[in-house]
Amino acid sequence: MIRILLFLISLELISLAAFAQQHQVAITIDDLPRGGDNGPRDLASLRAMTAKLLDPLRGIPVIGFVNAGRAEALGDSGLQNILKLWLDHGATLGNHTWSHPDLNTVPLADYEADLLRGEPAITQALGARPVYFRHPFLHAGKDDATRRGLEGFLAEHHYRIAPVTLDNSDWMFAAAYAPALMTNPVLAARVRAAYLAYMDSIFAFFEQRGREVVGRDFPQTLLIHASQLNADAMPDLLAMMRRRGYRFVSLDDALKDDAYRLPDEYFGTGGFSWIHRWSKTKGMPPKGEPDEPAWIAEAYRKLRTVQ
Ligand SMILES: [Zn+2]
Repeated sequence: MIRILLFLISLELISLAAFAQQHQVAITIDDLPRGGDNGPRDLASLRAMTAKLLDPLRGIPVIGFVNAGRAEALGDSGLQNILKLWLDHGATLGNHTWSHPDLNTVPLADYEADLLRGEPAITQALGARPVYFRHPFLHAGKDDATRRGLEGFLAEHHYRIAPVTLDNSDWMFAAAYAPALMTNPVLAARVRAAYLAYMDSIFAFFEQRGREVVGRDFPQTLLIHASQLNADAMPDLLAMMRRRGYRFVSLDDALKDDAYRLPDEYFGTGGFSWIHRWSKTKGMPPKGEPDEPAWIAEAYRKLRTVQ
């Protein structure tokens, strides 16, 4: 009897474990070699930040989106040095334009030229052309003509668009965190704790909203930035995702899901989750994700005013 009971309990545990493993997420990291904060950009600092960011991600599929023009001070060899760290950790790389222009304000032709200018450094690192393109600010075209124009250009140049479903304001926390690290470690710890709670709420929101819009669970795509905050928080961030039942998949694998073939007819100035784009196309009433805490938004606003 006891054996049967133990057997039943173990079956229960196995099914619980299977249930807890139901979610999938592809981790994508933007603004390489560094973005979202104003931390130091000399080669040694960038190497240290990058190594710390990537160390807990060993064995987890990751794609990093590069802004080669934001690393000009490093020189070509400095940027290649950082990109090699990513490749050595098993990550792959995508194009995020040269200088991170805003498609809402820059003419399409200039934007396309900037995009192509960003390509050679990535090709050099990969030994092949990058496959994926990520729009800076997730701005994909303020009007239908711009959006379609860019999509045509990307197709012509054999790029696949890298969508984002788990969009968030990690950059706001990162901007507040980097200076606090230097002057106020108590505040830095508080920012990091608030960031982890916020990201947990972002996952909870988009899991639920994804089910409402897509009709089922599907592999999510997470966007975060190459910042000191994410370097320091990565072990806790990964623990949060595992606790929520996630396993990690590549962007390639996530995008095999038919959710990513849902109609997306959105154009406009907004830069937001593809879940919102699908919901708008379906004519569903909007539902926004959780806001960052007011004190983080305020700290970010003050930093912007000082800069
Ligand atoms: Zn970016």
